[in-house]
Amino acid sequence: MAPHYVGTFFMCITHLLVAHEFREYTFNNPVADFYYQHHTQQTLSFVLRKKEQYQKQIAHAKQMSVWQALEYLNTIVDESDPDTRLPQIQHALQTAEKLRHDGHPRWLILTGLIHDLGKLLITFGEPQWAVVGDTFPVGCAYTDSIIYYDYLQNNPDWHNPILQTKYGIYSPHCGLDKVHFSFGHDEYLYQVVKDYLPDEACYVIRYHSFYAQHQRNAYNHLLNDHDKAMFHWVKLFQTYDLYSKDAKPIDIDQVKTYYQELITEFFPDKISW
Ligand code: FE
Ligand code: FE
Repeated sequence: MAPHYVGTFFMCITHLLVAHEFREYTFNNPVADFYYQHHTQQTLSFVLRKKEQYQKQIAHAKQMSVWQALEYLNTIVDESDPDTRLPQIQHALQTAEKLRHDGHPRWLILTGLIHDLGKLLITFGEPQWAVVGDTFPVGCAYTDSIIYYDYLQNNPDWHNPILQTKYGIYSPHCGLDKVHFSFGHDEYLYQVVKDYLPDEACYVIRYHSFYAQHQRNAYNHLLNDHDKAMFHWVKLFQTYDLYSKDAKPIDIDQVKTYYQELITEFFPDKISW
């Protein structure tokens, strides 16, 4: 074979070997089992209870630095994620490094670094179904854009007609701030950081797992003008959250100083968790 054919041949083989679709969900596997647990137990009343519990906890909680929280993440592997088996600190750094590489503003790089810190809830004893996975509004009709939609038939709210009209307990274009979502790391972290970061960063953190909206626009009827403007950032961020996932880990020691400085630009030494 002529040398350039050999090169092309190996490029094609390499492409076939590394080509990898993200967010491919199938049945009879641990991710599907996870979503069965998630969808059957995330009721409106569960969500209201958890929001109240953690708003109180954050008001009196133990103090920890953002970097310490990142190191805690090193013990966690997300059961809902079909795309990475690396510890969560690697997902945090890979997301942030890709945003940094592409020249995005510092607040967005920081958002990449910390966006999943709410998964610390697992270390507080919460089951994974109360922490990770795609989020969706509760208190109104589910849409079939929600991943593993059929499992929702086993959620008690499915059988409550008041909660299954299009708007449920909400009103048209009331704004997502008034909507309760399945509880997890997004809402928890939003409550932890909301006094320290720009609105755009807080918004991305709060809705980054709302795939039914950022991929399918399935809840336009609940969005207000503020949400519509902010979703630009959520959609941009989502590509970094997903496509930065790589089996090759980042050398933490090489980037630690940069990220510690970035954290101190926005946060005090310690915050409440
Ligand atoms: Fe997340
Ligand atoms: Fe993430």
